[in-house]
Amino acid sequence: MKGVADLHSHSRLSDGTLAVADLVALAASRGVELMALTDHDEVSGVADGRAAAAQHGIQFVGGVEISSEWCGLSIHVVGLRIDENESKLAETLHDIRQRRTVRAHQMGDSFAAYGINGVLAGAKSFAPNPDLLSRTHFARHLVDSGVCGSMGEVFARFMKPGKPGYVAHEWISLANAITAIHGAGGRAVLAHPGRYDTTWTGGPSGLLKAFAEAGGDGVEVVCGPHHPHEWAEYAALSRKFSLLASIGSDFHSPHESRVKFGDLPRLSPSLKPVWYDWPEAESFYA
Ligand code: AMP
Ligand code: MN
Ligand code: MN
Ligand code: MN
Repeated sequence: MKGVADLHSHSRLSDGTLAVADLVALAASRGVELMALTDHDEVSGVADGRAAAAQHGIQFVGGVEISSEWCGLSIHVVGLRIDENESKLAETLHDIRQRRTVRAHQMGDSFAAYGINGVLAGAKSFAPNPDLLSRTHFARHLVDSGVCGSMGEVFARFMKPGKPGYVAHEWISLANAITAIHGAGGRAVLAHPGRYDTTWTGGPSGLLKAFAEAGGDGVEVVCGPHHPHEWAEYAALSRKFSLLASIGSDFHSPHESRVKFGDLPRLSPSLKPVWYDWPEAESFYA
């Protein structure tokens, strides 16, 4: 086994575009040997993912990407090898999804106040899981309806703090996200640490220190949203704060995602990987 791991991906159950079985089939076809499905605030695809992975003969762990808040920043925490049936985690995720729905209505109102109507209905038409409304669904609708030329343009013009379609939102705390993941037997991994604006919160180092102190277990060192120069930076920071290293494409869609399954470089053998004691990764060490 070459040991190609990808521990961050999204299906149609959150803001990806592929059905779970198709996502797993794509990962397997691209040479991924250990994968995690990590839908935003949703674990209903995990059982199907596990079954599909077994069919393709690849290893799979259940996951989730929890939206949380720390020092005013929206921080994503990936939970890996969770028990998707654990009741407290299910309850926490259910609450987050309900609050997402409230936010989506507020976003629709915000667009209407700016003069763009029908945005909530349009976003819903792009959300196969009515229980999980994401800014991504709004962005897909605004591109499809011709308001913007790209998803990136939608986020830049409308869905960042201070922009007309943006609605401030209170997510659960970073500490509570970590607790929910631990309660379900999983490892808590800081997702794409280079994507947060930590200018006012001690820089990347301040964030990783706070994450480790809050009980976090690992950090994505190599991931799709990072630029290559960030890989070495986060390798060093993971060592500094004794955080396990993880890797994941953050794959959402064959058309939208910058990084394809299997295209990321391997984690350096000098790092302790998040899967170091998982039975699913046993053959990585054979
Ligand atoms: P939400 O969790 O509903 O606030 O939406 C966040 C999601 O929007 C992330 O998970 C990304 O998939 C997506 N996203 C954030 N920024 C951008 C961007 N600049 N371009 C495209 N998608 C983005
Ligand atoms: Mn997303
Ligand atoms: Mn994320
Ligand atoms: Mn993600």
